[in-house]
Amino acid sequence: MKRVWVLGAGQLGTMLRYSGLPLALEVIPIDIDHPQELPLGADDIITAEREQWPNGPATNQLSAHPGFVNGGIFARLADRQTQKQALDELGIPTSPWLPAAVGLSAATAAAKLGSPFLLKRRTGAYDGRGQIWIDADSGEAIPEDWLGSAIAEQKIPFADEVSVIGVRDSAGLTYFYPLSLNLHVNGILMASLAPVERIASLQDQAEKMLGRLMDGIDYVGVMAMECFRVGDKLLVNEVAPRVHNSGHWTLAGSHMSQFEAHLRAVADLPLTPFVVKGRTAMINLIGTAFDRRWLNVAGAEVWWYDKEVRPGRKVGHINLCTDSHQQMSAALALLAELLPASYGPVIDWLLGNLGD
Ligand code: ATP
Ligand code: MG
Repeated sequence: MKRVWVLGAGQLGTMLRYSGLPLALEVIPIDIDHPQELPLGADDIITAEREQWPNGPATNQLSAHPGFVNGGIFARLADRQTQKQALDELGIPTSPWLPAAVGLSAATAAAKLGSPFLLKRRTGAYDGRGQIWIDADSGEAIPEDWLGSAIAEQKIPFADEVSVIGVRDSAGLTYFYPLSLNLHVNGILMASLAPVERIASLQDQAEKMLGRLMDGIDYVGVMAMECFRVGDKLLVNEVAPRVHNSGHWTLAGSHMSQFEAHLRAVADLPLTPFVVKGRTAMINLIGTAFDRRWLNVAGAEVWWYDKEVRPGRKVGHINLCTDSHQQMSAALALLAELLPASYGPVIDWLLGNLGD
């Protein structure tokens, strides 16, 4: 079996491992704190399920291996500042921004970006952590410890959050999934729906933007691009050089999931256009204990990550794929009964976006 090592051993690594089995790929996720060197072979392939990792015996060995696909790209995209610069250089529209360099005042930032504006840590942030709003008009200052380690971003009055997931192979061929419509609450992804008819007209625009980035940096594998919709224009919020939570719906909704697509690309196996099976709703399970009753819901595909349950932590997701409006709304109604009350607005958002 061809071996694929993954830098990182979270749920994304596990889903890659699962998807590798039918392709006769032995996918081995490695914890970033793994204390020993690994028995790497010369023909092994290395990929990552995260953008950053500390130096250690295993991480250093993996990231220095000649089989590490996209090796140089991670550092560039893991830092929001160099990621924004890369997007600017390629002429891909993003939310207006500036570096929150030492000495930047809230008034100067507000003069360019308006008030309030958003500070985002350059590295290490996720799920809305590492972000604060600065209301310069009310005299709020940029806290000292953010200067030099953050970017400042304009507040985007978006109508929707959408994302496009694409894959590019080593010959430069690209394929894309239909855009997903995403619901974030307090910076954390709660649910996705794909495909969605009312955003289908943005598909071409999204594919051109992500295609330009993947071509521009000669990327191989799956990449995710999160966008804001403002009118009929998309603005990139951020990109991730890996499989992504907003692509989990593809496990149920496509003949080839994003995990399989990534593995096919990095292992140089053939890729094809994605055959979408139906409309899929993906609900993230956040900070909630496993409930075996979820398994009673016909059509629900439960993915439990076996992580310790903590408030705000992603511990699993549920996919529902069907072309029948009736089946989807019946299953969502059942799930609403089995999820915490805070999921009420999430279910309503999904129901409200099903169309007719
Ligand atoms: P992820 O877990 O996806 O990596 P993150 O914590 O890195 O998320 P972002 O995706 O940049 O952070 O932002 C999280 C959410 O905050 C966005 O999905 C959006 O809802 C909101 N947000 C981010 N940037 C802006 C902005 N410029 N204007 C308005 N809302 C924003
Ligand atoms: Mg995000």
